[in-house]
Amino acid sequence: MTLGFFPTPMHELKTLSKMFSGYRVFIKRDDLNGLATGGNKVRKLEYLLQDALEKGHDTVITAGAQQSNHCRLTAAACAKVGLKCHLVLGGQEPEQHEGNLLLSGLFGAKIHFTGDNRKGEDMQLIAEQIRKEGANPYLIPYGGSTEIGALGYSDAMLEMKSQMKETGQWMDYIVFASSSGGTHAGLLAGRELHQLNSKLIGISIDKDETNGHSLETIIADLYRSVMGMYGIKNIKEVPGIELLRGYDKAGYGVITGNELKAIKVLAEAEGILLDPVYTARAFYGMMDLMDRKELKPNSNVLFLHTGGLPAIFHYSKELNQKKNAG
Ligand SMILES: *Cc1c(COP(=O)(O)O)cnc(C)c1O
Repeated sequence: MTLGFFPTPMHELKTLSKMFSGYRVFIKRDDLNGLATGGNKVRKLEYLLQDALEKGHDTVITAGAQQSNHCRLTAAACAKVGLKCHLVLGGQEPEQHEGNLLLSGLFGAKIHFTGDNRKGEDMQLIAEQIRKEGANPYLIPYGGSTEIGALGYSDAMLEMKSQMKETGQWMDYIVFASSSGGTHAGLLAGRELHQLNSKLIGISIDKDETNGHSLETIIADLYRSVMGMYGIKNIKEVPGIELLRGYDKAGYGVITGNELKAIKVLAEAEGILLDPVYTARAFYGMMDLMDRKELKPNSNVLFLHTGGLPAIFHYSKELNQKKNAG
């Protein structure tokens, strides 16, 4: 199913390349994939909603934080294909709906605020309630990170390979924000299936574990299931998972000087916006790796922009304070 516009652009960040000598810096614009201000969940939702429709569902339920990009894009995608959408969001309802939360409502999603149950614990409960009312809901877990959703990023890898081939510019590294694991696992599978040499570097965004599982384990398990979707079973060895943990210490959704710096650098140098939660944290990580020459000299470094724009407007207070302080 098509929800966005692909291929998304891939181009050099010429000013950044000048700022980081020894590197050429490129960007893959999945923030520009066209649906509802874009982002990485669009590729996942193309597979997930296809699955929901094929199985005859009429409603989608998913969960996330109040500023979840995944929830906003699920609401938009459901609107586009004529599915009803229920969102299960942690915390209390705020007085003002802003950023992603505001947009999710505009797309017509029914929003449930679930207080301290912040990780979608109430999805089953709500599914039962609406089943009683005659709905046939399809449940999508946090971040859309199932083997079905991850197929979208295996495709993205093939798309990037074609673009590299076309331009003759092969990427030595691909750097991206990694959080619920679907993007990371999909890229790993695509890299394997389409035999690319680019090294994948995920920057961890959330220091907390999910249900007692480390993100590394989740990515490895998802990788096996994604490969299984392509008929490749009994994988003995999962390829090396590079997940850098050094930038998530402040915690999920906490904006520090690092994120602000990344936002300002890219905005001032290239006129491109990063979101404060995911892409700014990952972009800061990439700049830090280049500053410290941890990436091999004379290499091409690609940043995968995974979207998140509306969060900027939710965090305007933090961004203002930091601006005035700096
Ligand atoms: C969800 C999200 C990510 C992380 O992707 P996962 O597949 O959950 O690891 C990165 N960036 C943005 C903007 C996101 O919304």
